[in-house]
Amino acid sequence: MPNDALAHDFLPSDLFPQAEWPTANGALENQPQFRDAATQAWKISEVNAMRKQNTEAGFTVADGKPNTVTQSTGSMRAGDVGNLPQVWYSNTETALHTHPPTPGTDGRPSPDDVAIAKRQKKPVMVLSKDGLFEVDAQGNMTQVYKGLDWLNKKKK
Ligand SMILES: [Zn+2]
Repeated sequence: MPNDALAHDFLPSDLFPQAEWPTANGALENQPQFRDAATQAWKISEVNAMRKQNTEAGFTVADGKPNTVTQSTGSMRAGDVGNLPQVWYSNTETALHTHPPTPGTDGRPSPDDVAIAKRQKKPVMVLSKDGLFEVDAQGNMTQVYKGLDWLNKKKK
């Protein structure tokens, strides 16, 4: 899968150069509530991966606030991540889900993730060991953060 985003190190000032609100200016992913929910989702995937279980976890965002983290467990087969069903309401602004850190699982947004973003006309976010990715409503992929250090970044 071609992915130009991986060829670059994105600086905070480069966040979402083409993205629409609410992710413009890096606002959403810098919110403590968003980071807490992302951390919670990631831990579910990480712990289950240690048990060799593929689990996607995630949450939707409405009115600038993350909803409850939910999870979906796939089979033990490599590559079967058990896609997480997420319900989009009219006020849903974006949805984040994890790609588990199990061998054979791509950390980047999948073709299905791109299709969902285009269908919902809203950004879709994917969190994996490779970092945080965003697919915008037009289907363009951006790597927002490399790696997972941003989850622990303290607000200045
Ligand atoms: Zn996905």
